[in-house]
Amino acid sequence: STPVVPGDLSWVPLREELRGASPYGAPQLDVPVQLNVNENPYGPSPAVVEDVAASVARAATTLNRYPDREFVELRAGLAAYLCAEAGVEVGPAQVWAANGSNEVMLQLLQAFGGPGRTAISFAPTYSMYPEYARDAMTGWVAGRRHDDFSFDLAEAERLIAEHRPSVVLLPSPNNPTGTALPHDVIGTLCELVGDTGVVVIDEAYAEFRRAGTPSALELLPAHRNLVVTRTMSKAFALAGARLGYLAAAPELCDALRVVRLPYHLSAVTQATALAALRHADELLGRVEELRAERDRTVTWLREQGLEVAESDANFVLFGRFADRQDVWQQLLDAGVLIRVTGPEGWLRVSVGTPAEMQAFRSALTAALDTTT
Ligand code: PMP
Repeated sequence: STPVVPGDLSWVPLREELRGASPYGAPQLDVPVQLNVNENPYGPSPAVVEDVAASVARAATTLNRYPDREFVELRAGLAAYLCAEAGVEVGPAQVWAANGSNEVMLQLLQAFGGPGRTAISFAPTYSMYPEYARDAMTGWVAGRRHDDFSFDLAEAERLIAEHRPSVVLLPSPNNPTGTALPHDVIGTLCELVGDTGVVVIDEAYAEFRRAGTPSALELLPAHRNLVVTRTMSKAFALAGARLGYLAAAPELCDALRVVRLPYHLSAVTQATALAALRHADELLGRVEELRAERDRTVTWLREQGLEVAESDANFVLFGRFADRQDVWQQLLDAGVLIRVTGPEGWLRVSVGTPAEMQAFRSALTAALDTTT
């Protein structure tokens, strides 16, 4: 497999800002309990597998041709899904998609960032954001959240006035803390940024939000500079297919068509995603269970005397450990892979099946016994 740490690149004519950089990514280790990249632990049923395979087989009959560059059917399917999930009106012209929301986000930076422009986010947050900015040659400013990881609007107002960012990147719920963004803050940010920038609310984990919490999608009619990104990788249980998407004003989607590579969504990807959308109810069928398991995990971690961040997502950030690397290693030795991420001292666990969470609790109990 590809080494995580690059070899000696000293002779390679790299861009200066890439010198010393490592490829992003959590260790991909073959262990029994994998709770490190916020996947949905439940795989597709045989019926879904059959429909995906049949759809891909149909697409295969014309693989000599390029795929539908505008992925018209998929945009319509995603728009219909958003209407049903969030109870809002979203049309196909307001939807854009790419290979994971990672690629959607890079395209946003390519279109709305660039040399002489600035993107901003608020740490601790998703650590890919500065990489999109770097790769799109965009200036980067990292503000701070409050100590309890809630959003600091006063800090945001100050930094937006100072740096006039053309892209604001904010996940809700936030990764790795799980913190949801208050609804009224989003509208305020859109107004502060105005028409010289876009506000991107990254709703990768939105389907896990608490019942009754609105999606940022509701604010689209009121703010033409608002972009809401989603993914099929998390609640939708389709990480392997690589399909991320967004909803925004049709003009913003048209701007992304300028920077996308031609035919970026393969015929196989489009067929797979369309088949998955036909089975949305089943693929999302475990979300309620995962939410309950998350809440049980938070309660249990608190009972162990640990600090735990409030989570609206399918993962939980907990700590603090004097040596988090040691705790992570002890869990790994017990066959449980979690993630070293977030501020110093904290660890993140994705919510798995009840059996996986039992393995996590046993391994952590043993580790706590040896470290305290
Ligand atoms: N945004 C956030 C906040 C994430 O945590 C992730 C995945 N870790 C992504 C975007 C990207 O997901 P994908 O490319 O699989 O859609």
